[in-house]
Amino acid sequence: MKRTLKRVIVYLLVTASLLGITTTAYADENYTAPTDTVRVGLYYNDGVTTSRTFASANLQNVDGYGYGYEMGYYDSNRNFISLGVTVTDTNAITMVVDRNLYYNSGSRSYMEGTSGSVVVGCFHYQINESFSDYQSAASCLASLGTLSSESFIKYENGKYYVCVGNYTSSSAAAAVAPNVPYSGSVNSGTSYTMTVVETGTNRILFEFDGGGKSFLAVRPISTQGTKTLTYYKNVRYYGNFSYVRKGTDTFYVVNYVNIEDYVKGVLPYEMLASWPIEALKALAVCARTYAMFYLNKHSSMGFDICNTTDCQVYGGTNSANDVTDRAVNETSGMYLTYDGKLCETFYYSSNGGASESSENVWNEALPYLRGVIDPYEEAVIDKISNYNWSVTYTGSELASKLQSKGYSCGTITKFEILEFTPTGNVKRIRFTDSNGKTFTFSKENCRLILGLRSQRYTINGYEGSANGIYVNDSDNFLSSLFENLFAVGSGGTSSLSGGDTYAITSTGDVEKIETSGTASSTGESFVINGSGWGHNVGMSQWGAYSMAKIYGKTYLDILTFYYTDAVVAFSQQL
Ligand SMILES: [Zn+2]
Repeated sequence: MKRTLKRVIVYLLVTASLLGITTTAYADENYTAPTDTVRVGLYYNDGVTTSRTFASANLQNVDGYGYGYEMGYYDSNRNFISLGVTVTDTNAITMVVDRNLYYNSGSRSYMEGTSGSVVVGCFHYQINESFSDYQSAASCLASLGTLSSESFIKYENGKYYVCVGNYTSSSAAAAVAPNVPYSGSVNSGTSYTMTVVETGTNRILFEFDGGGKSFLAVRPISTQGTKTLTYYKNVRYYGNFSYVRKGTDTFYVVNYVNIEDYVKGVLPYEMLASWPIEALKALAVCARTYAMFYLNKHSSMGFDICNTTDCQVYGGTNSANDVTDRAVNETSGMYLTYDGKLCETFYYSSNGGASESSENVWNEALPYLRGVIDPYEEAVIDKISNYNWSVTYTGSELASKLQSKGYSCGTITKFEILEFTPTGNVKRIRFTDSNGKTFTFSKENCRLILGLRSQRYTINGYEGSANGIYVNDSDNFLSSLFENLFAVGSGGTSSLSGGDTYAITSTGDVEKIETSGTASSTGESFVINGSGWGHNVGMSQWGAYSMAKIYGKTYLDILTFYYTDAVVAFSQQL
């Protein structure tokens, strides 16, 4: 009842929002996002792909969407703090580490240890005097006469300095001293220094050294009053960029982007742009909520979320189109909440017939991540490749699978499903080898240990019931869905709700049926027939497709079906 009421309220608010009527967040489901800016890691060393070290990262304004750049850094509240330094005579800049680097025109990048006609030297002659503001430093630079064209301003820990030239050796930098009318010394930067050059040249535009506490940020300059779009590695991005260098040879490229623009860059990568708008809108709410939930996930690298499947795939505006942008705009500011807090909006490709409660896959039982029988996927099975899948293993093949995961076992002679969940997914399995040694796995390991596509399968035709519920020790399976059903017991009528199942015992009492049973095979080969693809927790993307396409459901219908008792809340406008 409560859920129905909330849903009505959401509909009313959505309608009001579309009409342009200003609404406040509703009383009991208030949510205010802590920020409107997310920090997305675009290129970084995550400890896995350690070869991703690199010395340079370029930017280029997209024609018609900005020209030039402003230099600064971000404070802890994600505000861009300008340093008063602008670059307005080029639309292409490259951020490099302060090393001797050679320009490679093929890859448009700067590299160490190669050769080339364009070289950026890391030795500079730095004037001793420091300045508290950019203008004073600029006046000093202008007073250098002919040397000013090869000089640049450096910002280091709150002070501005003037540096002359870039040389590949300390001695070459020292040789310029007699021509400089100020005292100074040779400087070659630190492992925190970022240098900004004009792409394709050795012209240094600016240097930044925050000592590992603050990091160079670059804001593309808007020229037409529109939002800026900027290329990095041939991908167009909204927003600004930060270069996080923490005392190593490499640095992390971070996109500071408005949450709505971020979601626009996720949607076409996590769902096909050709899918129904209501399914896309459901995913937009999920993607937005997921990002805000995981704010600071990768904070050790200076960003919130990465741009891979580890978080959510994000590709700037390259694949966005009018439909995906519309799905984001029509759900702008909407977050999925439970009890006033953000939900962890997990989603997956397909569940094969039933989703799963979070504690039956992972550990924590989240109230909005409940397994539900999914009647929707079935209508679109013909569109889903490998929806029903099958793999066959011999006992020795199963043994090598287990051995490859570090288990010491002989040929597997028995493979059993010890327990199904109330929605019929596999919860506990056991292997027995030729020596009688057993190996038991539960939850998502029922899928991962064999690398199966889902946790929803049978072994050698053992099917359980439609709900996967095995009653007593007989072969009788209950096969109906246990919604809106009641049983009469000695104490009156009891609802068969909540995914639990009850039966009348010989004494006339209604008792909960424990969902366990044993399926096993001792045959020569083990045939595993399954359906679905993914972890089965939260929203099925194909289920959302079917709900929208076949059943005409809205994104709110989809979200409330897959996230039990969750409510879409509007964040107050930031
Ligand atoms: Zn990540």
